[in-house]
Amino acid sequence: MKQTASEILILTCEHASNKLPATFKSSVPAEVLKTHRAYDIGAVQVFRKLVKFAKPEFFSEGKYSRLFVDLNRTITNKSAFSDYLRDNAKAKAQAATYWTEYRTAIEKFVESVLKPKTQAATIVHLGIHSFTPELNGKVRNTDIGILYDPSRPQERAYANVIKAEIKRLYPAMKVRFNYPYKGTSDGLTTTLRKKFGQRYVGIEIEINQKFFL
Ligand SMILES: [Zn+2]
Repeated sequence: MKQTASEILILTCEHASNKLPATFKSSVPAEVLKTHRAYDIGAVQVFRKLVKFAKPEFFSEGKYSRLFVDLNRTITNKSAFSDYLRDNAKAKAQAATYWTEYRTAIEKFVESVLKPKTQAATIVHLGIHSFTPELNGKVRNTDIGILYDPSRPQERAYANVIKAEIKRLYPAMKVRFNYPYKGTSDGLTTTLRKKFGQRYVGIEIEINQKFFL
């Protein structure tokens, strides 16, 4: 996507990694760490290509598995922590510090762009994710999902542009809006919308993992 002076692109990949800090590595079975439960398979490869191509002013990727802490959940959301570490106070404290550092860096950047009232800039945030092709025995018949908040016209406009661009490049791709998740569910974009209002545009791209498996 082309950036104009007034649109500042940021790229993030919360579920990039399936690693755990060394101290907690034995808490999760190695075979679980290889699955989509631990990370978004393939997402970081797409994310890094996009970073190279689009040269965003800010980008960040998670360095630990969501089984340590889910960077795309509010820390007060019970599902931020997996069953493996939920009762481990030491792990939880370390995970909370890591979560806060990750979130703070993004918020600080967004704030630095949006705070000067004289600058009419908009932040366009793309979060890169992937979803498992089959869930509970049901095959998901979509290649790429674009998640946004339907009550925000500027997000809808960007979602339409992204869809048109994907269809132009890959006409056979099945693209759906707000699939397989709602753009308004608890997550990083939801938090940033609340915090920064209309000058923040938050869109998540969900890619079917069948392309990477
Ligand atoms: Zn994800």
